[in-house]
Amino acid sequence: MHIHEGSLYWPGTMPIPPERKKVEIASHYDVIIVGGGMSGALSALALADKGLSIAMLDKRQMATGSTMANTGLLQYSNDIMLHELIEQIGEKDAVRFYQLCLEAMENLKNTAERLPIDPDFISRPSVYYASDDNDLKMIRKEYETLKSYGFPCDYWNEDEIGKHLPFSKPGAIVTDGDAEVNPYKFVNGLLQLVESMGVHLFEFTDMDDVIDKKGLLHISTSSGGFHADKVLFTTGYETLPVGKRIGADINRSYVIVTEPLDASSIWHENALIWESKRPYLYMRTTVDNRIIVGGLDEAKPQAPFSNEAIMKRGENLKKQLEALFPELPIEIDYAYCATFGESLDNLPFIGEHPTKRNHYYLLGYGGNGTVYSMLGSKILAEIMTGKANSDAQIVQLERSVTALTGGQSVIA
Ligand SMILES: Cc1cc2nc3c(=O)[nH]c(=O)nc-3n(C[C@H](O)[C@H](O)[C@H](O)COP(=O)(O)OP(=O)(O)OC[C@H]3O[C@@H](n4cnc5c(N)ncnc54)[C@H](O)[C@@H]3O)c2cc1C
Repeated sequence: MHIHEGSLYWPGTMPIPPERKKVEIASHYDVIIVGGGMSGALSALALADKGLSIAMLDKRQMATGSTMANTGLLQYSNDIMLHELIEQIGEKDAVRFYQLCLEAMENLKNTAERLPIDPDFISRPSVYYASDDNDLKMIRKEYETLKSYGFPCDYWNEDEIGKHLPFSKPGAIVTDGDAEVNPYKFVNGLLQLVESMGVHLFEFTDMDDVIDKKGLLHISTSSGGFHADKVLFTTGYETLPVGKRIGADINRSYVIVTEPLDASSIWHENALIWESKRPYLYMRTTVDNRIIVGGLDEAKPQAPFSNEAIMKRGENLKKQLEALFPELPIEIDYAYCATFGESLDNLPFIGEHPTKRNHYYLLGYGGNGTVYSMLGSKILAEIMTGKANSDAQIVQLERSVTALTGGQSVIA
């Protein structure tokens, strides 16, 4: 499956990663991680920090899956707002989930500081504006809910938005504790770090099956057989090699990256900007003064092959950006489309398979995928080393999304 098409910006922001060290397949690993993107690399670090022996496999070059298409907005707020999540799963779990996302932001920052490559991690506020008057009540309610549970946020009315930004919107929530990152540098930094900690990396290694022989897992791949106690699938939006995904929609989304602008600060504090409309328009700036804009999600899994089709959507994103910032001289430098997965209940899939023992999954579907990869890696590092984790039930695979999946588990 082609999970992105078009011209991507991040690969040109760093030198081509060096070839991975050639290693022999060991006779046994504690954990095999299938998928060398953001989720796999963060899990490798969390598990290596616990002293486990790990091999990570990827059928592509590592970090070139959807990690390379990620626009790198890191936010504790989610596509499902806190007040909506409270209605969906109850106050205790919903508030705890938001706290986990806020903690994950702190953990991402700390991880960025450990990396041998500077991943351009910069703390930024986010501005989440009401797209029109109809959404104002909802934005106000969300602000009050976040505030009442102690999440760092502020509220701007129309006048305050006008003082900070050149466009007029009826109201906005401004959150603190968010950040931008270069996800490609971040994951390549993680790969270098875990390799130096003894994790074995096998690129161009396609995993096709797992057989459980009396508690020892035999994992067959295009590079030969592996043996491990546990397997962790961090395979992103593609069809799972083992297990069946029930609770997700696989769509596609478009992104443009502008040419660099002649300005040290492009807009107020180079905030991350997004909106209440669905699908939403979102944008951020980069360290070399570009603007990244994304949106226009479509209910099709595969990105179009035609450059013309991608550019047509790119021009549409440019128009939407110009409508908000008419003074900025905007030229498109990169445009692409990528597969994008969203779970039906807006929560990531993290945990052990309901029936296949020692098969674990970390699928951080949703706009906040990186935050989910981070929080998932922490939860998994505990449950995979036999410790209880009281948060694991919120994101477990056995949860029943009754109205959406007919009551089945989200991964079968
Ligand atoms: C356009 C776009 C914008 C986004 N913007 C943001 C954002 O601003 N902020 C945010 O937090 N998130 C964002 N995301 C989400 C984010 O990109 C994902 O959450 C993240 O990339 C998921 O990482 P991953 O490691 O799970 O998947 P991937 O990076 O896709 O890694 C999975 C890997 O598994 C490998 N694999 C699959 N099957 C096999 C197999 N059988 N054998 C071996 N290897 C296999 C693949 O080759 C791949 O490299 C965005 C996503 C898209 C598409």
